[in-house]
Amino acid sequence: PARTRFAPSPTGYLHLGSLRTALFNYLLAKRTGGQFLLRIEDTDQKRTIPGTEERLFNDLRWAGLQWDEGPEVGGPYGPYKQSERSALYEEHAQKLLDSGHGYRCFCSTERLNALAEHRHKLGLATDYDRTCASIPAEESDDRASRGEKHVVRLRVPDAYPSYEDLIYGTFKPLRQRRGAEQAFEDPILLKSDGLPTYHLANVVDDHHMKITHVIRGSEWMPSTPKHISLYNAFGWTPPAFAHVGLLADEQGNKLSKRNFDDNIMTFRQMEIFPEALTNFTALLGWSHQEKSDVMDLQSLIRNFSLKFTKGNSKVTDGKLHFLQRKHAALRVKEGGKGMKEMVRNVVKLLEDPDRPYNDWRHLTNGKTIYKYVEEVIKADGENYNNADEFVFRNMFLFMPLQLPLQNGKRQTDAEGIPQDAKKLAEVQVWEKDSIMKKVYEIIDSGTEEGRSKEVYHYLRKVLTGAEHGMRIHDYMMILGRDECLKRLGVDV
Ligand code: GLU
Repeated sequence: PARTRFAPSPTGYLHLGSLRTALFNYLLAKRTGGQFLLRIEDTDQKRTIPGTEERLFNDLRWAGLQWDEGPEVGGPYGPYKQSERSALYEEHAQKLLDSGHGYRCFCSTERLNALAEHRHKLGLATDYDRTCASIPAEESDDRASRGEKHVVRLRVPDAYPSYEDLIYGTFKPLRQRRGAEQAFEDPILLKSDGLPTYHLANVVDDHHMKITHVIRGSEWMPSTPKHISLYNAFGWTPPAFAHVGLLADEQGNKLSKRNFDDNIMTFRQMEIFPEALTNFTALLGWSHQEKSDVMDLQSLIRNFSLKFTKGNSKVTDGKLHFLQRKHAALRVKEGGKGMKEMVRNVVKLLEDPDRPYNDWRHLTNGKTIYKYVEEVIKADGENYNNADEFVFRNMFLFMPLQLPLQNGKRQTDAEGIPQDAKKLAEVQVWEKDSIMKKVYEIIDSGTEEGRSKEVYHYLRKVLTGAEHGMRIHDYMMILGRDECLKRLGVDV
C-alpha cells in the first residue's frame, strides 16, 4: 500500500495543476489500499495568504478527495502543518551539523549578493563559494551561541546524486551535465530566523510521515537531487518519485493566470460537477486502457496506474464540457442526489425575477415546478452543461413562444404542412405512441420526397422555436396537448 501526500503551500487557491497533483496522489493511495495525506507547507510565512487553507480544504472535499491524515482529521504523525513542527526541523538541522553534512554559514546578505553578481558576470551559476564550510566546528558553535546571525547549509556531495524517476527515468542533475564548476549550491536548510526551508521540511516530513511515493509537478525535478542528498545525509531511504509534466493551453503555452482561469472556484461557479472535473483532470497526462474516457472517482481508482506522459498536457475546454454532459447523463440515469441538484439549480434560475424565464406557470400543466423541470432534465439531460445554458436551450418550455411573422403570416417551410400538422388535434390521449402515430400519418398523407424531414422541421420550429433539441415527442409530452395545439395554431 502506498502512502502519498499532497503538500500545498497556502500561498494561493487550488487550481487545475494542484488539483491534478492531489488527485494522482489520492488515486495511487486508494488504488493500493494505502493512505492519502494532506500537509500544509507554510514555512514561507511571508508568502502565506490568510484564508487560503480553509478554501483549499473546501475545494479538495468538494472534489471528493478526502484525506486520511492531515489537518482537521489528525493522524499518528501530526501535526500536519509545518509551522507547528519547527522543533523537529531544528533538531534535524543539528543532526546534520553533528555529522558534518551541514554547516553554519555566517555570510551576510550583502556578501552573498555581491558574490552572486560577480558569478553572474562571469556567466557562472549563482552558487555559494563555501567560505563558511571550513569554519572549525568549535568556532562555529561558539559564534552561534553568541547569537551571531547564520543559516544552516547542506554540504552537497561532489557528485550530485542522480535518481530514477518513475516517469522520466534516470534524472541527472544539471551540474553533472554542465561539467564541474568550482561552486556548490549547498542549499540553505535552516533560515536565519530558525525556520526551515522547503527542502529540509519536505524531506524530514516525508520521512517521518512514512511517505512511499511522491507525485508532483515536473517543476520540482531540479530539487529532487538535493532531496536525495538530504536523505543520504540522514541515512534514510528516499521515497519513489514520479514527476508529471505541466499543463499548457491549446497553443502549448504554459497555463497561467493570463491565458486560462484554472482556479477551482471558477469551475465551481460554472457549475461543473466535481466528478466531471476530476475525470477531466485525471486525463491530463494520464492514460488508461478503458474503452471510454468517462469515469467517476471510483472507476478512476480502479483503473489508476502511474502511466503518465512525459512533457506538458494541453487543457481543452471542449473536453471538459463533453465530460460534463456525459456525467449529467449519468446523474439522470441514477436519478439520485446528483439529479436533484441539477433540478434545484434550474428551478432557482426560473424563479429568479430578473431572468426572462418567469412565465412558465401556465406551462407546467398543474405540476410543481420541480416535477416539471425533472421531466425536462430527464428528456434532455445528456445536453446539460449548467442551469443557465440548459434553460436557454429549452427556453420555450419556460416561456411562451411567439414566432416572428413574415408578411403577416407565420413562416412556414413547405406547402400544406402547417395545415396538416393541425391534425395533431385529433390525438385525444396525449402519449408518445399516439402522438407518433399521428405524426407518421401526417407524413404519409403527402407524397413529396423529403416530406418526413420537412414535417419534423416544421414541428420543431413551431413548437420549440429552435432548429435542434431534444426528441420532438418528448418535447410535445412535456409541453402538453393544449399548449402544443395552441402553438400549431389550433383554437383550443
Ligand atoms: N509545497 C510544495 C508545493 O507547494 C510541495 C512540493 C512537493 O510536492 O514536494 O508545491
